[in-house]
Amino acid sequence: MSDECKRIKRAFETAESALIVSHLDPDGDSIGSMLALGRILSNLGLEADYYSEDGVPKVYRFLPWADRVCNRVAPDKSYDLVITVDASDIKRLGNKIVLSEVGKLIINIDHHPDNTNFGSINCVHLTSSTAELIYKLAKYFELKIDTEMAKCLYVALITDTGNFRYENTSKETFLMAAELIEAGISTHEISTKIYDTRTVPMIKLFAAAMGTLETSENQKAAWVTVTQEMLQKYACRSEQLVGLVDHIRSIAGVEVAMLFREEKDGVVKVNFRSKDKVNVSEIAQKFNGGGHVKASGAVFHEPIEAVKAKVIAEVLRHPS
Ligand code: 5GP
Ligand code: MN
Repeated sequence: MSDECKRIKRAFETAESALIVSHLDPDGDSIGSMLALGRILSNLGLEADYYSEDGVPKVYRFLPWADRVCNRVAPDKSYDLVITVDASDIKRLGNKIVLSEVGKLIINIDHHPDNTNFGSINCVHLTSSTAELIYKLAKYFELKIDTEMAKCLYVALITDTGNFRYENTSKETFLMAAELIEAGISTHEISTKIYDTRTVPMIKLFAAAMGTLETSENQKAAWVTVTQEMLQKYACRSEQLVGLVDHIRSIAGVEVAMLFREEKDGVVKVNFRSKDKVNVSEIAQKFNGGGHVKASGAVFHEPIEAVKAKVIAEVLRHPS
């Protein structure tokens, strides 16, 4: 990574303005990485702007500087630098900004295997999380990891490693976590904020979603469905479904788990998880989505029943 670090360093030192961009439907890694990177830039004397088309999910709003994240960029605004975090593809950034118009130099920092290297500088490595790359950048710049930066990085780390359970967790991941603890974070406090702040309507929605559970004949594929009607009934937002599909994967014998969710404006989102035998990134890519081998997603503009039919048919073509 040192070659990219050198180029990134030069870019950071010469830029007078920067925009950090996270992906649609942002997760803990994209928000945590974005905010931690903002602190690195600030330490270097560059105050960045932050852009996330879908804003910041409520559960991550306790993070320092989360209130600086905007869901619009002023018309005609152009930055010396645009840095994308955790996005494998330009499409993942949304359709309200055009990267080439908004920035002179694009830096793409990501850990997805299907990254399309769309940046002028691509810092793409298969680490546990994008946050691990941001942490390495902080080290490269010889910056002190303060408590605030550590909070952002830790949220990214636990959400992308499933609390250090997934096989993307390495010795480096734990060493990084140890250093974040040394920087003064309370892991318990952060875990409570991320995992133990669900509301009663959210749990009722989860129960209703569980009630829709269906499986393939051999029970190796299992899926649940959440419609707009269900979201409205429990007054929940779709961002509050985080974690639901992981429960479906937790069923013994299930190799592929899916959540079909109806978003606003006729959009349907599918979240895929696999246990051991199936590459769900390949399946998502068939539908113009992507992600990791064991966690991926895709977006559709068709009625949910049609989406279910074709996605399940595709999943069943993959032996598990
Ligand atoms: P999640 O299900 O947690 O939202 O996403 C799991 C993984 O799939 C993440 O790495 C995420 O970046 C990727 N992913 C989710 N949705 C999409 C999508 O619509 N397109 C692409 N290319 N990747 C996605
Ligand atoms: Mn990530």
